[in-house]
Amino acid sequence: MRCRPRGAHHHSLYHGGPPAACAVCRITERKRCAVETVELLQTLCDAFGPSGFEEEVAETLQRLIAPYVDEMRVDALGNLIAIRRGTGDTTLMLDAHTDEIGFIISYIEENGFLRFTQTSGWDARIVPSHALTIRSDHGTFVKGYIGTPPPHILRPEDRDKPYKLEDLFVDIGVDSAEAVAALGVRVGSPAVIAYPFEQLNEQVVMARAIDDRAGCAVIVKTLEALAGQELEATVVACFSVQEEVGLRGATTAAYQIEPDIALVLETTVAADYPGIEPQRRPTRFGHGPAVVVMDNSMITRGATVRAITELADEHLVPWQYRIPYGGGTNAGAIHRSRGGVQTGVVSIPVRYFHSPYALMRLDDFENTVRLVTEFTRHCPGLARR
Ligand SMILES: [Zn+2]
Repeated sequence: MRCRPRGAHHHSLYHGGPPAACAVCRITERKRCAVETVELLQTLCDAFGPSGFEEEVAETLQRLIAPYVDEMRVDALGNLIAIRRGTGDTTLMLDAHTDEIGFIISYIEENGFLRFTQTSGWDARIVPSHALTIRSDHGTFVKGYIGTPPPHILRPEDRDKPYKLEDLFVDIGVDSAEAVAALGVRVGSPAVIAYPFEQLNEQVVMARAIDDRAGCAVIVKTLEALAGQELEATVVACFSVQEEVGLRGATTAAYQIEPDIALVLETTVAADYPGIEPQRRPTRFGHGPAVVVMDNSMITRGATVRAITELADEHLVPWQYRIPYGGGTNAGAIHRSRGGVQTGVVSIPVRYFHSPYALMRLDDFENTVRLVTEFTRHCPGLARR
């Protein structure tokens, strides 16, 4: 996992400015870094974790961040809270959510077909005709397919009608309710879309759970980048459960952590594709981390927005505003915790958000890591603004 060799010969990827070491070394380091970043994203994006069932993601993260933190705990709801002690008395909470949009089995038909509903976040029109992975009570994964009738047998009047979630079913290839039970699948079994992480080219990756495993990966890379450095702020990395169903994990986590300042790492809608006018594109691909000014959950204070954007400019990190356009993040819960918390949101632009696959650019991801690393390093100063 380690991306930054500790040897004196190497310089950091994360400090803007001209490289200090030889060009050859830099190229090698960058290449290796890119491979490790992709591996990290793949590991996190392929972990199973619909809302309420995030254990596998938390266990994976525990393993990844263990070398960089002083203590860790998993709370009653399943939030993973990791502390890296600083020299001063400012507490910075870095938050990313571990859950992904998913499904839950709601009814077992006598003939072995499964009915299901969504935990949250889905546009029902795009759910049919996708493969599904269901986690069984045996801890195994059962594959299935959300089948739909072919045009041959569709009634003409049904051809233009979108499917409703309640009319859909999963076919797991068995023919009785008993066979379903034998597999450990029951009412309440969680499920996600089945597709694995893919890399489209050097710059673009595609995965099911980029929202918000990319945010989790930003925290992992930030902790890694700051390893061994003395920091004034105590950094509390919070990997929150159940964001997609209403910021539930972040609500109880922020109460426990009592941060002075919080930064939420998210993914957000990039819509720079055909059919969407510029003013309806919250963010654009390849334009760097997006600074959220307002969504349905929070209006970011002007001083917080400026602190983030000025820091980005100082460190030559490209960034963009996220055009206010609906949505919400864990910041909605965190900034209203206790007596109130100065909270900012930095989001990675992602295309095809909340669908079976989302696309992300690696430069947008790396630039987000650079910005969050600098934010963490400068945090006590920011908290006093
Ligand atoms: Zn999210």
